[in-house]
Amino acid sequence: MAWAKFFRRPGGNLGRSYQPGSMLSLAPTKGLLNEPGQNSCFLNSAVQVLWHLDIFRRSLRQLPNHYCLGDSCIFCALKGIFCQFQHSRERALPSDNLRNALAETFKDEQRFQLGFMDDAAECFENILERIHLHIAPDAETDACASKSCITHQKFAMALYEQSVCRSCGASSDPLPFNELVHYVSTTALCQQVLERRDERFGELLQAASTVGDLRNCPSNCGQRIKIRRVLMNSPEIVTIGFVWDSEQSDLTEDVIRSLGPHLNLSGLFYRVTDERAKKSELLLVGMICYSSRHYCAFTYHTKSSKWVFFDDANVKEVRLDFHVIKSFSNIPSICRFG
Ligand SMILES: [Zn+2]
Ligand SMILES: [Zn+2]
Ligand SMILES: [Zn+2]
Repeated sequence: MAWAKFFRRPGGNLGRSYQPGSMLSLAPTKGLLNEPGQNSCFLNSAVQVLWHLDIFRRSLRQLPNHYCLGDSCIFCALKGIFCQFQHSRERALPSDNLRNALAETFKDEQRFQLGFMDDAAECFENILERIHLHIAPDAETDACASKSCITHQKFAMALYEQSVCRSCGASSDPLPFNELVHYVSTTALCQQVLERRDERFGELLQAASTVGDLRNCPSNCGQRIKIRRVLMNSPEIVTIGFVWDSEQSDLTEDVIRSLGPHLNLSGLFYRVTDERAKKSELLLVGMICYSSRHYCAFTYHTKSSKWVFFDDANVKEVRLDFHVIKSFSNIPSICRFG
C-alpha cells in the first residue's frame, strides 16, 4: 500500500511560501538510518513527511508542554528527532528512539514491533493519535476542541455521513466522526477514471469512495441509496490513503496517472459547510510509496521549492512527475495535500 499526502500551504500559493531569512521556513534535509533487520522504512517515511510539513513542524515546536510517558514517550522521541534534524551535523540520523517508543506503546496490540515491517499509513495515523493523547488526554478523539491539539486542529476532517432517499425523502440520522486519513480503494478509483475522464482528482476520489457503498432507505421504501459525506471543518492538511487489493497490482500506472497535484475539498465530499474549506484548493506536498516490501517518501521542500526523495539514509532532489514516481515505486500508498 502507498499513500500521497496533500497539505495546504499558507496562502495556497506555490510561489510565495518561503520568506528568505525566516528561520521558521528552514527545514534542513537529512536521511534516517535503517540498518539491516531493523525494517524501519515505514517509520522513516512517516517521519520525513511530518518533518517537511511546515505546519506540523512549527506547531510541534511551539507546544509548551505535554503529558509525558518518559522512556516510551512518542512525543518526546519525535521532538528529539526534529531537534536532531535541525542541529545535527550528520547526514543521516537514527530513528531508534522513536521506533522503541512506538514498539513499547503498541506492544499489547503487537503492532510496530522492533524488527518487523509495518504499514506507513497506519504508523502516521497512530503517531497523530498519540500526539492528541499527549496534548489533550481528557478530550474524546471524536470531539477534541483543544486549540493546541495539532492532530485535530490541523489534520482531522470533521465529517458526518447521512443517507437521503430520493424516492421517499426519508433521511437517516447524521453520523458524525473524525478522519485523519481518507482511504480510497484503488480499484474503485481506476474504474472512476475510466468512466469520468474529465473529472478532477477530488471528484474522482469522492466517486470512488462512494461507489458500491449502497444502503437501504432509512424508511425501508425499498430503494438502495448512496451515502453522503459532509465536511464540517477546514483541515489544513488532508491525507489520502490508497487501499490496494493486492501487493502486485496492474493498476499502478493508472493510479499514478490519476494523481492530481491539486485537491479541492468541495470535490472530495458531497457537501462542504465551512466557507474557508469551500474556497480552498490544496496542493500535493508529500507522498509515501511502497514497493517490494519497502517504503520511501517524496516531500515538497518549502525552502527550495523542490521535491526531495527519501529512501532511508539516501536523500536526493527530484522532479516529481509520472516517470519519477513510477521508477521508484509500483505503488503510491498515501498522498498528502495542504
Ligand atoms: Zn514526553
Ligand atoms: Zn485532539
Ligand atoms: Zn425511501
